[in-house]
Amino acid sequence: MALETAAEKDRRSRREDRMKADIKSMPVTELAQLLADIGEQKYRASQIFEWMSKGVYDFEEMTNLSKNLREKLGDVAFIERLTMEKVQISAKDGTRKYLFRLKSGNAIESVFLKYHYGNSVCISSQAGCRMGCAFCASAIGGMADNLSPAEMLDQVIAIGLDVGGRIGNVVVMGTGEPFDNYENLCRFLTLIHDKAGLNMSLRAITVSTCGIISKIEDFGRDFPQVNLAISLHGPNDEIRSRLMPINRKYPMGELLKACRKHAADTGRRITFEYALINGLNDSPSHAEELAQKLRHMLCHVNLIPLNPVSEREYAASGRQTAEAFAKILEGKGIQTTIRRELGTDIDGACGQLRLKTLEK
Ligand code: SF4
Repeated sequence: MALETAAEKDRRSRREDRMKADIKSMPVTELAQLLADIGEQKYRASQIFEWMSKGVYDFEEMTNLSKNLREKLGDVAFIERLTMEKVQISAKDGTRKYLFRLKSGNAIESVFLKYHYGNSVCISSQAGCRMGCAFCASAIGGMADNLSPAEMLDQVIAIGLDVGGRIGNVVVMGTGEPFDNYENLCRFLTLIHDKAGLNMSLRAITVSTCGIISKIEDFGRDFPQVNLAISLHGPNDEIRSRLMPINRKYPMGELLKACRKHAADTGRRITFEYALINGLNDSPSHAEELAQKLRHMLCHVNLIPLNPVSEREYAASGRQTAEAFAKILEGKGIQTTIRRELGTDIDGACGQLRLKTLEK
């Protein structure tokens, strides 16, 4: 009989995994139920969860479980693992961009950033994105896949192991619209917050949306402590609809009303992301218009000099324009920062992450 090649083995194990339970996507309570269903003690759930959060991908390495339990688990469940295909390190600032292969053959990108306040990881929630924002590389190939909770979590685990340091903050701002994959996002937040696992404070996590209003309401109720960021990028419906098709469904007036309610209900400050695009949304009158719309809201504006994407026609505003824009907002009492862009030399900055397809 011919020997199985590595690629064939890989394909076979993926086929087999599809028949089994995705144990790493399960919160501890569900994991306990799975154990009960196979006649095992529920308290083992926290032990298994802890191993997986430390980056153990093989039941055989879970040495505090009996051999019998390890074998049973191998029969009914698999542990999700992303394949790290490539790491690019910025020569300018040490930012790292990771290319991970998913089981589907698609690939996603994640970014590790070092700030003065600690290490941060920007993760993807979908492979590609169907929101079609005109300035964003993630939208170019459309949407290929929703990431499972485990696929979101494993980006943080794998990067933590690679850099060998604690990850202090997570932002869900890579490829994909997190609220378009809402249920898996919520499970991911439950997993990363569990004290048996990474035990990350919900206040250290930020989720960024292009403005799906119905989910903003749900999110405020489900995870009031998680920070919310809104990709705004325009001071009015005309400009925002040109840049972001979602604005035609959820116009700016309704979006900002939902944001005001979210801030009032949760007591949390909302961040508005605003990419400055030369000649399109960066004039003093645009700043005035924006300031007027955000008046008296518990919020913060993050101005981002637009990052270049080769397929897109837009150019970034200059530093002086950004400073003038910020000054107008601040003059109206709106807290504003101009983001220091990290990782631009490796296309790892905001709006530059994209869907990749690798050979299966
Ligand atoms: S900006 Fe966000 S929502 Fe818009 S296409 Fe890019 S990833 Fe999707």
